[in-house]
Amino acid sequence: MQNYSTDAINIKTYPISEFDNIVVMFSKDMGLIRGIAKGVKRPKSKLGAASQALVANSLVLSERRNLDIIKEASAINSFNKLRYNLDKLTMAIYITEAINIFCTADNSEKAQNEEIYNLLYKTLDNIQNAQDKTRILLSAIKFQLAFMKLSGFGIELKRCLKCSSEPTGSVLFSPETGGIACVDCAIEQVHYVKMHEKIREFLIALNETPIHLKTKYDDIVNEKVTNSCFNLLKKYIEITGNKKSKAFKVMEETKSRLKGV
Ligand SMILES: [Zn+2]
Repeated sequence: MQNYSTDAINIKTYPISEFDNIVVMFSKDMGLIRGIAKGVKRPKSKLGAASQALVANSLVLSERRNLDIIKEASAINSFNKLRYNLDKLTMAIYITEAINIFCTADNSEKAQNEEIYNLLYKTLDNIQNAQDKTRILLSAIKFQLAFMKLSGFGIELKRCLKCSSEPTGSVLFSPETGGIACVDCAIEQVHYVKMHEKIREFLIALNETPIHLKTKYDDIVNEKVTNSCFNLLKKYIEITGNKKSKAFKVMEETKSRLKGV
């Protein structure tokens, strides 16, 4: 059996036997993969911390017919600042849920896997270093736009999906199709949300700027705008992936429990 190495970010982990866990990871080379972390629940396991969710590792895996075995893992980034803030942790879980829904194991798309890996890494790093809730949401919106583009479901914000013209002023946005329509082009059967021209300019700027660069809006945007844009794109992603995010539901329950309500 052959060994191979790759960098990967842990998406989630679950038990398979008394001492072993399965780790679902997004790897730089092969996309979404699974591996067994053997003996990880024994007190002296070398894999313990490295096999937690939301850790980026440099790995050596051993190929097996069914599930590959994680032989070595050394942490590249543990994203520790994510773990002590409920809003940051929830958003990180939301991001990894999207990866888990849209991505598969595929080693033929090496360049695309690397782009998604880098996007995920940068987003988790941006979220852990975010100064406030607006900056957490802003990092997530940048992820939503770039990730959907990389997955082949890019959002159309410039041209009307019906007449292909480039409307000015306010437009309608459909979370079902992920595109805009001129006010006059609305189709009765489609559900639209009115999108103000300033919001559209903001989203276009984010959509066209590489994630490692700042846009002119990064320092001035407020929580209300980022929150409504995030929810709009979240709806599109849920409809496209045919799955609702559980991350925020869990957060609401946890918050109520902490308050003792
Ligand atoms: Zn139109």
